[in-house]
Amino acid sequence: MNVLVTGGAGYIGSHTVRLLEKAGSNVVVYDNLVTGHRDAVKNSTFVEGDIFDSTLLADTIKRYEINSVVHFAAYSLVGVSMVNPRDYYHNNVVGTLNLLDVMMANGVNKLVFSSTAAVYGEPDTSPITEDVMKNPTNVYGRTKLIMENAMADYSRTYGLKYIALRYFNACGADTAGDIGEDHQPETHLIPLVLKACLGKTDRLKIFGDDYPTKDGTCVRDYVHVNDLGQAHVLALKALYNGHESDIYNLGNGSGFTVKEIIETAESVTGMAAPKEVAPRRAGDPAVLVASSGKIRQDLGWQPEYTDIKNIIATAWRWHKGNPDGFSG
Ligand code: UDP
Repeated sequence: MNVLVTGGAGYIGSHTVRLLEKAGSNVVVYDNLVTGHRDAVKNSTFVEGDIFDSTLLADTIKRYEINSVVHFAAYSLVGVSMVNPRDYYHNNVVGTLNLLDVMMANGVNKLVFSSTAAVYGEPDTSPITEDVMKNPTNVYGRTKLIMENAMADYSRTYGLKYIALRYFNACGADTAGDIGEDHQPETHLIPLVLKACLGKTDRLKIFGDDYPTKDGTCVRDYVHVNDLGQAHVLALKALYNGHESDIYNLGNGSGFTVKEIIETAESVTGMAAPKEVAPRRAGDPAVLVASSGKIRQDLGWQPEYTDIKNIIATAWRWHKGNPDGFSG
């Protein structure tokens, strides 16, 4: 398998690259390094490039005889997407359409696509199965849902074979401790709590404590980044074995409130994170918990990291060892 991994210098991308290589794939990382980190790509072949650059994409596909793509390259911050929708539609929709067209023009029809729980919005049922109504409450989720629909049409009409993976909350880090989460600016809960413990960020803001949940804070399903990565390995293998296009949730199936995550992180670090309650963040649903029964059954996915304390401990190892991320 010769796999092009767009966004392979990013958080989930770099962990997946490692797992793909372990599983025997030849990986070419393709990343414009706008949000990715060159140091997150260790010994893999690396091409610095943009998904809008059709010529470079086509040349890379030909040069490395690429026969499948794992597409991570996207903007992924809910809050920013609400104030800067243009960049999100441009990058996540127009950029991905460009990638699809270059793939199809060069005979590459296998794609694993990063989607998100944000496509659901606020469903009435929990845990969420893949077939519930999709009604995203934020721009980021809308861009991913548009692409899911476009891929379904490309699949029906042009023979694209894709598997879209709807991530719930990615977290943790490889136990080797040399790659981990490093977003600029950081907006995600777990890295922010750990950074607050380290005194590397301002007081942590708890976005809303008046949600209809057990302690008033939002409930999310936190899944380890290597378990997400392993799902890409399985999805790609399935496509090579002739699996039809499909969509799967990826979560652990248990929900934790923001306050529970903070308490667990404090117990892992043995330090207190300075914190305060702040207004709700626009676009945040109250509860998002996955049913991942479909991917467990179809592809045999089995998360290795099911204990939230253990998951946070892997993130802590990365943050403690790299308090300034990749630039440290
Ligand atoms: N959150 C918070 N304070 C922060 C960052 C996040 O209270 O500084 C909350 C956020 O409202 C959500 C949960 O933590 O309920 C997870 O947010 P994150 O940004 O990590 O992931 P998302 O759910 O947006 O994908």
